[in-house]
Amino acid sequence: MSKYVIVGASAAGISAVEAIREVDPVGTITVISEESCPQYSRPMISDLVSGKANFERMMCRDDQFWGKNEVQALTGRTAVSLNLADKYVALDKGDRVNFEKLLIATGGKPFVPKIEGADKDAVFKFTTLSDAESLAAKIETAKSAVVIGAGLIGVSVTEALVKRGLKVTMVELQDNILSLILDAQASEMVENVIRKAGVTIATGQTVQRIVGKPEDDNVVGGAVLTNGEQVQCDLVIIAIGVIPRMELVSGTDVKTNRGIIVDRFMRTNVSDVYASGDVAEAYDFVFGENRLLPLWPLAQLEGKVAGYNMAGKKADYPGGTAMSALKYFSIPLISIGIANPKEDVAYEILTKHEPEKNLYKKIVLKDNVIVGITLVNDIEQAGVLFHLMKSCANVKKFKQELLSENFGFATLPKSLRKKLYPGE
Ligand SMILES: Cc1cc2nc3c(=O)[nH]c(=O)nc-3n(C[C@H](O)[C@H](O)[C@H](O)COP(=O)(O)OP(=O)(O)OC[C@H]3O[C@@H](n4cnc5c(N)ncnc54)[C@H](O)[C@@H]3O)c2cc1C
Repeated sequence: MSKYVIVGASAAGISAVEAIREVDPVGTITVISEESCPQYSRPMISDLVSGKANFERMMCRDDQFWGKNEVQALTGRTAVSLNLADKYVALDKGDRVNFEKLLIATGGKPFVPKIEGADKDAVFKFTTLSDAESLAAKIETAKSAVVIGAGLIGVSVTEALVKRGLKVTMVELQDNILSLILDAQASEMVENVIRKAGVTIATGQTVQRIVGKPEDDNVVGGAVLTNGEQVQCDLVIIAIGVIPRMELVSGTDVKTNRGIIVDRFMRTNVSDVYASGDVAEAYDFVFGENRLLPLWPLAQLEGKVAGYNMAGKKADYPGGTAMSALKYFSIPLISIGIANPKEDVAYEILTKHEPEKNLYKKIVLKDNVIVGITLVNDIEQAGVLFHLMKSCANVKKFKQELLSENFGFATLPKSLRKKLYPGE
């Protein structure tokens, strides 16, 4: 019996351990992790491929972390099922761990569509350290790659491959790359920068079939797109997206939608069972509803809130929203909240586009409150804009200044400054 059992030991699981230990120094904690060394920064796996980071730099906690926190770490082990009535987790070798409180922090898994030829050698997924290590090893002998998917993961792996000297073709089903976080204008600007770096971008296309090399059909030799074009390549990386890993709760009473449904304490509908991170649908303060937001800092915060509540300290999850701060191919960009507002809702959109500076700014307002921020190539004002957005400040009186070069903390009306920054 363990007082606390946590399945998954990445951003959410680690934060939960730390929060529990803050409140309860002695309660037994068992962590179950399929990955044998889970305490690494997942967003950095492309840095491992590009050579920017090594294994040590990627570690977000040292090897002693589990011991120091007196955690029984069952690493390299898979939780295969849950018995919520008898309160235990069944493991892959037939053993079980009983719990008083359970946290499901199983994260996401790559979405892999059925593609003919996807079983050939040199077809990769890209969500784990082990995926990155396998890909990095293969790059030594490869000259070209096809990346399927031009979302955050697809673009980051593309950049890493380009840095390693590969010729890359990025294939995207939507009409624009990064379409979940950028509008068509911003996306085009980023596309131009990526193309200049030598990448071929095929939008409105997907890979229909992966073909073998003439000398060995079992090894990747090319990818056939939906328009019939065949792109020669030595590697294919499937980076279409990540979906919540909910198999543990399937068939149980735990309520799910697109992810596990949680309240603001990270509790599921089943008593003593919590969920956090990419597997959970937590509160999005822009949409005013629970949504999937697969982001590292949010997973950490959700794990922390779950840990506190599991250990008996009341903590509220304040909510998060979609937020990406990126520097792909040297172009800095920030996207927060709504990037592509639906036309049927009363949004007001402010934009500034200076092609000669490759600069683009867009603010989406609803009822004079900021609900979306996109900044390309000038991200200086992101902090103050986000602060206004997070605090739901009414910007009616100065909205025309939001995009001006001089806009900043000092130009906010004094009364608002006092409200937002009481210590100032
Ligand atoms: C390539 C890449 C780049 C990213 N870049 C960014 C970025 O720039 N910024 C950002 O904010 N976010 C980024 N993310 C997203 C971020 O990594 C995730 O939001 C975060 O890792 C979620 O943490 P988590 O703890 O919920 O789950 P995960 O990190 O997915 O970890 C879940 C863990 O649970 C384990 N597990 C699952 N099921 C079981 C089971 N049944 N038994 C035992 N163990 C199990 C898994 O093996 C895994 O170790 C990126 C993700 C990827 C893949």
